[in-house]
Parts: sequence; structure tokens; C-alpha cells
Amino acid sequence: MSTVTPVCYCRNPAKLNTAWSNDNPGRRFFGCKKFGSGFRKPCNFFTWFDQPLMPPIHEFCCWIF
Ligand SMILES: [Zn+2]
Repeated sequence: MSTVTPVCYCRNPAKLNTAWSNDNPGRRFFGCKKFGSGFRKPCNFFTWFDQPLMPPIHEFCCWIF
């Protein structure tokens, strides 16, 4: 089993975060490492982390905040 860190649209290794939304409490996901760091325009890269038996899926669609 190998874990590959996805690369976001900025060509940076994505950062593993933990979601605490009502729909996905504690679920991990990869997002742009610039997101939340004060960077003005992070890209909208997003993919769930808990898919061990599947290749990285582009499940980026909408940031829900
Ligand atoms: Zn990015």
C-alpha cells in the first residue's frame, strides 16, 4: 500500500487537513497548503484522503464553509 501525496494546482505538495464540518467530522482531506496560511489566492485543490483502495480521485468541486 502506497500513499502518494497529491500535487495541487499550484504544483505544491498538498497538505493533509482534517475536516470538522457537520457532514464530515474528523475526515481527512488534502488541500492546497497555501489555504489557510494567509495566502491571498490559494487554489481550490481538494481531495479526500481516506480512499486506501482507490487511486487519488479528483473529488474537488466546491469548498463548503
Ligand atoms: Zn495550491
